Amino acid sequence: MRAVRYIDKEVGTAVADVSDPSPAPGEVVVAVEACGLCGSDVHAVQNGQCEPGQILGHEFSGRIVALGADVTGWSEGQPVAASPLGSCGKCRICMRGLAFRCPAAPNIGINRQGAYAEYAAVPARQLVALPPELPVEVGSHAEPLSVGSQAAKLASVGPGDPVLVYGVGPIGLYVIMALRLFGAGPIVAAGRSAGRREAAADVGADVVIDTREISVASYAEQSGTRFAAVVECSAAPGAFTEGLAVLEPGGTFVEVALTPEVASLPLFGMLSEGHHIVGACAFSDETYRESVAHLAAGRVPVQRLVSERVSLEETPDALRRLQTPGSLVRILARPFMSAPWPESVPT
Ligand SMILES: [Zn+2]
Ligand SMILES: [Zn+2]
Repeated sequence: MRAVRYIDKEVGTAVADVSDPSPAPGEVVVAVEACGLCGSDVHAVQNGQCEPGQILGHEFSGRIVALGADVTGWSEGQPVAASPLGSCGKCRICMRGLAFRCPAAPNIGINRQGAYAEYAAVPARQLVALPPELPVEVGSHAEPLSVGSQAAKLASVGPGDPVLVYGVGPIGLYVIMALRLFGAGPIVAAGRSAGRREAAADVGADVVIDTREISVASYAEQSGTRFAAVVECSAAPGAFTEGLAVLEPGGTFVEVALTPEVASLPLFGMLSEGHHIVGACAFSDETYRESVAHLAAGRVPVQRLVSERVSLEETPDALRRLQTPGSLVRILARPFMSAPWPESVPT
């Protein structure tokens, strides 16, 4: 099959012919319909944080083309969304809903082969069925929507609670959609890119501020707003300190952006204000299933976020372009876009 593999920090990724995956017991092979290009892949490639030969890609959906031994309840041709997060479902970490940290099971596209490829092997327990009438591509939004939903849940907000979403990259936008879904808000979104700010308004932010023109602190002061939650999705230097300063007493600060920043935290301020500070990374299996249900019911305007669809051949270049995304929001790799959809099962 054709697949996009990591080469090295200088080259980035390249397309190669590799052997088709075969399903281990308990696994299926999925023909990938769509796989979202994720900022975490862009950073991993840029920073050389992958093993050479690694096939990245973890936000995907497709159709089952082969069943391994001991797989029941699934059939060939069935459309599915596939969570990349391996979990045993039994250990204490999994029971806490932190599947991505399960020591027993690797994560697809991170430390086992991913979905910037025609086919990917997936443990059957990571599949969620898609209704046949839904375009299969829509299932590829389940992963980032789950990241946004998990962060929105941790924000512990409801109707009437003002929330600041700091950063309007793809994850910020999925957070906005999840907050809207949960009825929280008013939602204030803060970002720099004009195109992405427009997308923020489009998917449900009530107020969108341009942080090149007004800082979050000035906005809070001028509007007299303190936030019940701040969801930090920007990784902008100083965002933690700035976000904490506009939080109301008892409010929650959720860090979602992958940032190397080492922030200092005034402990007296934290305790006297009763602030909650929480890290959100990935999602629980339950959140992933809920996301698929929301997508299937058409409750989230995810397709508005798709800026481009690219073939596997175009994917290495698209990953490079996302290093400076500008107004690009979401790019989907479509492995079979220019090839016939597979009729036969890979061996
Ligand atoms: Zn991702
Ligand atoms: Zn586990």
